[in-house]
Amino acid sequence: MDSVCTAHHVVERTPRPPLPSLGGSYALLLHLNSPTLLRIGYMGLIPLLPGDYVYTGSARGPGGLAARVGRHLRLPEMRRARWHIDHLTAIAPPLALVARVHGDEERYECKWAALLARQPGISRPVPRFGSSDCACPSHLIRWPAPLTPEELRDFLEQAPYT
Ligand SMILES: [Zn+2]
Repeated sequence: MDSVCTAHHVVERTPRPPLPSLGGSYALLLHLNSPTLLRIGYMGLIPLLPGDYVYTGSARGPGGLAARVGRHLRLPEMRRARWHIDHLTAIAPPLALVARVHGDEERYECKWAALLARQPGISRPVPRFGSSDCACPSHLIRWPAPLTPEELRDFLEQAPYT
């Protein structure tokens, strides 16, 4: 596995297990090659433009990042989608993972989503994607230009960490 460690963030290209079994926040970098219709149960079919996307999430509880992100990487073999992101990773396997290990009391997915949304030209094509239990407009952001894992990590390192 080709990984880059920084003081606080881990970048994994073509992420695959094993991952830390600790709790943490993570961002997935995904890419769509062509216009795609994403089917999400009650929302129906949602058109997505080609390009790079970032999804932010957190992994808490038993198994931590290993369990949660490992689940993302096992799709599309899994039959049932549980979270919104399951529908997307089933058609666009994550290209890279940026993760920050931390205790259960912290949660950076919302701060990261807000930080990434400040970039001019972004869009949030699916309202409330991954954010049904918080107040964010969406945890899925379409980036306006090609995005490398290192650029994503650099963006996330700007977040206000406590
Ligand atoms: Zn949120």
